[in-house]
Amino acid sequence: MEKKKRILVKFSGEALAGDSGFGIDNAVLKFIAKQIKELVENGIQVGIVIGGGNIIRGVSAARDGIIKRTSGDHMGMLSTVINSIAMREALESVGLDVRVQSAIKMEAICETFIVGRANRHLEKGRVVIFAAGTGNPFFTTDTAATLRAIEIDSDMIIKATKVDGVYDKDPHKFDDATLLKELNYELAMSDDIKVMDDTAIALAKDNSLPILVCNMFKDGNLLKIIQGDESAFCSIVRN
Ligand code: UDP
Repeated sequence: MEKKKRILVKFSGEALAGDSGFGIDNAVLKFIAKQIKELVENGIQVGIVIGGGNIIRGVSAARDGIIKRTSGDHMGMLSTVINSIAMREALESVGLDVRVQSAIKMEAICETFIVGRANRHLEKGRVVIFAAGTGNPFFTTDTAATLRAIEIDSDMIIKATKVDGVYDKDPHKFDDATLLKELNYELAMSDDIKVMDDTAIALAKDNSLPILVCNMFKDGNLLKIIQGDESAFCSIVRN
């Protein structure tokens, strides 16, 4: 029997904020829900991790020394739970079956992360949203997403962004920036190219997990990527 495709999609918190840059834009949630539904309808098992940057980031919260970094990071992780609940609602509103699993126990709100349980949900066609990052301060949700992708034996991690993939230099600053369709982990870790933080990329490299960086705002793009469609807007990081 052919193995079912399983993917993990990482959305940044900022992506949920839409143009305002803060909070949650329901129109964005609705759009994402449509994209995820297409995947599930095509038999793809989907895990999701969402950042918290639209609400709070530990580093920014701790900037002036009043809030300790670890406390700021706890606040950041709680932001991801807020985003995850919003995403669950959006996914359920389009008829999907969804579970939120938090790395930090909060049993009145959602399940606690248990990998075996997450796998069972995925096998049953439920979308699983992994909330609260890794549960530890000093990490990012990119690292949390990579970790969960490896734990659930995902075929790839997809980093959903506002751009078409990875460029050799910042496309917002340089007109001659070119899109790199394929690159290796070493290049992805280099200073000019910021795919994810180094911890996340190193974890992906050690476990040969391909990282796809794609444009999430192009309708149907996620499905195209998974189907290997050449016209998809994305870059792939692998060895
Ligand atoms: N965070 C953390 N541990 C984790 C994941 C996240 O402490 O394992 C905190 C950290 O403060 C981070 C915040 O949660 O700044 C929000 O996550 P992130 O900055 O990765 O969100 P994004 O940039 O993707 O919106």
